[in-house]
Amino acid sequence: MGSIFLAGTEEAAREVSQIGCMEPIISTENLTKTYRVGKVDVPALRGVDLVVQEGEFLAVVGPSGCGKSTLLHVLGGLTRPSGGRVLVDGNDFRGMNDAQRTKFRRHKIGFVFQRYNLLPTLTARHNIAIAQHIQGDGFNPHRFETVAEMLGIKDKLDRKPYALSGGEQQRVAIARAVVCEPKLLLADEPTGNLDTENSQLVLSMLRNLNRDFRQTILMITHNPEAASVADRLIRMRDGQIVSD
Ligand code: ADP
Repeated sequence: MGSIFLAGTEEAAREVSQIGCMEPIISTENLTKTYRVGKVDVPALRGVDLVVQEGEFLAVVGPSGCGKSTLLHVLGGLTRPSGGRVLVDGNDFRGMNDAQRTKFRRHKIGFVFQRYNLLPTLTARHNIAIAQHIQGDGFNPHRFETVAEMLGIKDKLDRKPYALSGGEQQRVAIARAVVCEPKLLLADEPTGNLDTENSQLVLSMLRNLNRDFRQTILMITHNPEAASVADRLIRMRDGQIVSD
């Protein structure tokens, strides 16, 4: 497939070669992670095999301590696995040094956490825009506007986090996570701190991001309603996937 040349342009050839070798966005094989606490080994992942294609919206559920957050951290390159293989967009973190992993994360992965993690001294606008500046590609006003519009925060952009509700703060955090067009959005209990109404709003926005932007999302949740907005449900227990 790699050498096929269509319509006489290099671009067409490149497109064909990309179709020919479409990689899953996530691929893990016998992934393990064991934490060492003093002299005790704490196994958190015990052989996880997972393949996720671009455009999927996955929810990962399971009892506390079953390894959900560890899986998300390993997929996001925040924690090194103990064994097995993990590829994100075809890239293996094992071959990267810290600087390369950081760069990869900035360009390919967006994170949303339960606690929003907004910078308290910056307005919503600057909390979002800073992600574009850190990434290094500069400010993209069109993308910024599109994301702010989709997340319903255009009239809140000049407020600092303390003047926003929890639901609004989480929507700003999601805007920050997706403004650089990451290939993968990793969300760790995004509705964990929200009341029912705000949870529903945040979930419907994640749903829209997935549907309208084809944003790939992997979301950890305890909330059955949150799990039900995803297309695919992964259940974990004792560091393994028990149903998919
Ligand atoms: P979940 O997200 O499903 O609650 P975690 O991935 O947080 O599960 O934890 C899986 C297991 O790993 C648990 O036994 C937990 O106590 C342990 N664990 C998680 N993080 C650490 C850490 N940084 N150091 C030591 N043990 C950890």
